[in-house]
Amino acid sequence: MSNCKKCGLPGSIILRKKDLYCTECFQININHKFRACIGKNKILNGNENVLICLSGGPCSTVLMDLIHNGITLNNHKKLSIRPIFFHLMGLSEKTDAVLLTKALIEKCNHYKFNIYVGHIAQYLLKDIDLPEVNVVPEVNNNLSVQFNDLVHSMSVSSKIDFVSKASRDLYINFAKLLQCRYVFTGETLGTLATNLLTNLTIGRGSQVQHDVGFCDNRSQIKILRPIKDISQEEIDQYIKINQLDIALTSSPINQENCLQTVIKNFVIDLQENYQATVSTVCKTADKIGIGTKKCNTCEICESDVGEISNKLSALEATNFSSTISAGQDHMTLENNLSIKATVYSMFPHVNQTLCYTCSKMFSEIDLNIMPERLKEVL
Ligand SMILES: [Zn+2]
Ligand SMILES: [Zn+2]
Repeated sequence: MSNCKKCGLPGSIILRKKDLYCTECFQININHKFRACIGKNKILNGNENVLICLSGGPCSTVLMDLIHNGITLNNHKKLSIRPIFFHLMGLSEKTDAVLLTKALIEKCNHYKFNIYVGHIAQYLLKDIDLPEVNVVPEVNNNLSVQFNDLVHSMSVSSKIDFVSKASRDLYINFAKLLQCRYVFTGETLGTLATNLLTNLTIGRGSQVQHDVGFCDNRSQIKILRPIKDISQEEIDQYIKINQLDIALTSSPINQENCLQTVIKNFVIDLQENYQATVSTVCKTADKIGIGTKKCNTCEICESDVGEISNKLSALEATNFSSTISAGQDHMTLENNLSIKATVYSMFPHVNQTLCYTCSKMFSEIDLNIMPERLKEVL
């Protein structure tokens, strides 16, 4: 078999080890996946300002190219959004943030796009200013030191989780500043499968629809993931065929020895041999509904904080058994109140202003370096 499975002409791209495509059908298919994802979800109205978040990695490079193709079309298929490009510096300490940002500004200019740049340490600020366009921002050194001290006071897994919640918060704040009601991020199938399994492992199971589905609508500003149906294999092929340059070649997560790396490697292995499983996992996550019961929302991740109930939750039961097995206490199962008191001391603000996982993360932060904005709201 050497012919494209779509058009029958000679093919040159093999996907999933068996499906052959010609370059043209492959390109059409990828563009279709991107457009269909936006179209079928019917969330986006025409001519909206959309903040496009770029990390500089392979997925965001493909996202930028797909947007460029879409908005430069001259027919009825033209993508009717006004993209505003944005990059958040400082997500990985192992990469030279200034070099990466300069490379990204250059890439955007090559497409005749402008880009705004923010810094992750701005999470500590109560208010952020509108950045200058196409400029690497000067970040107050104290601020970045303070942010680094903060994340280093946590375990590696919590740190990665916290940085992703802080980025989400900043994407939303910059979107507001730049008058966008929508944000595009560049997660693909593999990234979302990794995030899904990570979420389940760290206690964010009830948040998977927002974290893994097409749309995160916890905030008034909606975060959309328009390339979520594209696989890593397709990203790699797209980059090769279109000879795209990648500004960021290493993933920040891969450099850490932690839960997220283990899960990521597991998904990479799975994609290699059982790709259908990865997409089934993600599609299932998309279908999981979220209860409509209204309770408070978490000050860090904006998810529901969960309910305070008189019955013991799984969290409290787990915590009770760990307390007992550690031999630190002599509570009895009947004594729900004292168990609850212990839980709330171990998990500060849980079910009140923080969800379970954010509370756990919060408990790891050194109180002396707690950001003012968190101190104020909690
Ligand atoms: Zn073909
Ligand atoms: Zn939370």
